[in-house]
Amino acid sequence: MNSLPQVSFVIPLYNEDENFEALVSRLNPILDLLEVPCEVVMVDDGSRDQTPVLMNNLALIDARYQAVFLSRNHGHQLALSAGLKMATATEAVMVLDGDLQDPPEVVIEMLAKLREGFEVVYGVRKNRKEPWFKKMAYFFFYRLMKLFARIDLPVDSGDFALMSRKVVDYLNTMPEQNRYLRGMRAWIGFKQTGIPYQRSGRHAGSTKYSFRKLLELAYSGVFNFSDFPIKFITRLGLSAIVVSLLYLVYVLISKFAYGNVPTGFTALLMAIVMFSGVQLISLGIIGEYVLRIYQQSQKRPLYIIDKVIKNKTLLNGQELLP
Ligand code: UDP
Ligand code: MG
Repeated sequence: MNSLPQVSFVIPLYNEDENFEALVSRLNPILDLLEVPCEVVMVDDGSRDQTPVLMNNLALIDARYQAVFLSRNHGHQLALSAGLKMATATEAVMVLDGDLQDPPEVVIEMLAKLREGFEVVYGVRKNRKEPWFKKMAYFFFYRLMKLFARIDLPVDSGDFALMSRKVVDYLNTMPEQNRYLRGMRAWIGFKQTGIPYQRSGRHAGSTKYSFRKLLELAYSGVFNFSDFPIKFITRLGLSAIVVSLLYLVYVLISKFAYGNVPTGFTALLMAIVMFSGVQLISLGIIGEYVLRIYQQSQKRPLYIIDKVIKNKTLLNGQELLP
């Protein structure tokens, strides 16, 4: 394949061998249907099951499939970033999960929208098939983020999207280590729109997003796209000073006007414990920013590529270093 593909599909895979066959059999008809040269960039995020073997075998017999193997589990956002960097499509790049929660068929509708002049067409979940507490957490998270974010973040939309070559090029130049790609995508701007879609349950297997990973993603969203935490500390500190001054006035008046000597060891203890907590939380919030500055200042590459199979040819990751 000498000519560049027009549309790329980027799919991060972490221990998805149970879904692999179903995924490929859903993708193949779409690749045929699109009538333009397509490629699928599968990124193995350090899987420990049969996923790398399946990817390897497929990429060696079908030139439309590119297999990128990371050196270890780097996490969904970084695996996605690796895939976006490796995608060579000239027109648009589609991002989707490997568990078939994002229906690949939507690409047809998304591509039509993109050709109307949009640079990003993202999927908006009409419904979710997840446990109720997860649904609720997502619901509030997206709405709170929208309230506090410096940029306009669409609610109920994840990384599932079709982006123009231009937007992907900009994404690839953004060096942040703690990546919240859906936020970065919104930050880039241009004309963006959403398409509602039915988010099904996982085809097979269980979620590869542990609670810790999900929390990390939420943190990246909050700290990278909102000033709220740091501003909140200042406001909290100011409010505490105001309240304590008012209380001082009250105590002085009740002592000199009414002769009441303040008692209340418990109240004192409570105030000390509470404000120690507030101070520790404030330090923690500042620590989050310092940590992010520290990580960024290390200037490490975002991920390490072990090897790539492209056009049925095995390439060493080292050869691909910029
Ligand atoms: N994934 C990944 N690395 C990880 C975790 C997940 O590449 O460390 C992939 C996973 O294989 C899937 C996609 O990211 O293709 C979304 O993950 P998952 O479906 O587990 O997340 P959920 O839909 O439960 O939020
Ligand atoms: Mg999923």
